Amino acid sequence: NRRWVLASRPKGAPVADNFRLEEQPLPEPGQNEILLRTIWLSLDPYMRGRMSDEPSYSPPVEIGAVMVGGTVSRVAQSNHPDYKEGDWVLSYNGWQEYALSDGKDLVKLGETEHPSWSLGILGMPGFTAYMGLLDIGQPKAGETLVVAAATGPVGATVGQIGKIKGCRVVGVAGGAEKCRHAVEALGFDACIDHRADDFASQLKNACPDGIDIYYENVGGAVFDAVLPLLNTSARVPVCGLVSGYNATDLPAGPDRLPLLMGTILKKRIRMQGFIINQDYGHRIEEFQREMGEWVKGGKIHYREQVTEGLEKAPDTFKGMLEGKNFGKVVIRVAND
Ligand code: NDP
Repeated sequence: NRRWVLASRPKGAPVADNFRLEEQPLPEPGQNEILLRTIWLSLDPYMRGRMSDEPSYSPPVEIGAVMVGGTVSRVAQSNHPDYKEGDWVLSYNGWQEYALSDGKDLVKLGETEHPSWSLGILGMPGFTAYMGLLDIGQPKAGETLVVAAATGPVGATVGQIGKIKGCRVVGVAGGAEKCRHAVEALGFDACIDHRADDFASQLKNACPDGIDIYYENVGGAVFDAVLPLLNTSARVPVCGLVSGYNATDLPAGPDRLPLLMGTILKKRIRMQGFIINQDYGHRIEEFQREMGEWVKGGKIHYREQVTEGLEKAPDTFKGMLEGKNFGKVVIRVAND
């Protein structure tokens, strides 16, 4: 059983020495236990937070413990009456090839055409996009919605739901290829490259009526460009701030806090942070029903980036925080 453990806590961007690959004997399932074989491992930005021991909404991964993560697994061996060999389950086994379970925290996936989609569009990132946009963003037809990390699983889904609701959708993404994808495959009205020197003026031109909803995934320079464009009564679901996850210092430049507070006050802006499972876990069925229909009906396009092999997890994870991924990052740990 190969597994990646947290070897040390990163200072700034994670480096190879923060992770250690270990080999352990295969665990034996006891009575009422199942041995799960990881087929797909999800890599997500929140894992950077778990590597750090700063106070957060979830406890950190301990040094020497397996890196956490959502997984799609198959039952390899079962001593549990409710599970049989070969069953597909959604699990939370982390960065390892095998894990034991008592069955309690598993979700059976049944017959599924795309098992890995339960880690993306039909799972946590899709749910995040759906609730953050619909419940906090409150989109109305004709409004302008801006979302960054526009080709990732959250941003791509936010923008496409925005189109279903009749919004003008402007994406922000890193590089021309991702921007083209957002417009041509995802149906966004425009997408601006945040690495362009004149990013702020391009964003302004793409939002001639201002911004009614800014779905916050990244923070940093993108937020600086968004702030002056927000309309009166704009909504800002604060979902993630990935541009700062590796930061060790406050950003350079003048203190923008008075500008932010003044804008919130004068324009009566509503900003709300949320943590998907803590705040919306009770509404998962509503999401599954509606998203299931949209995906089946071809209304939502979904792109995955598949990386082969558990040994690639640290490098792939580091790359995702810098935008080297193109689509939802999943590791194929084993063939099914
Ligand atoms: P993505 O696959 O979109 O990966 C992160 C992306 O962020 C990168 O690909 C990159 O895209 C972009 N990015 C990185 N650095 C910067 C930067 N400096 N400026 C602008 N963009 C940057 O991730 P997800 O879709 O899984 O997650 C999106 C956000 O949602 C994250 O902030 C995540 O933490 C958050 N999240 C929050 C949840 C909650 O419950 N609140 C639950 C799930 C996710 P590009 O190359 O296009 O710039």
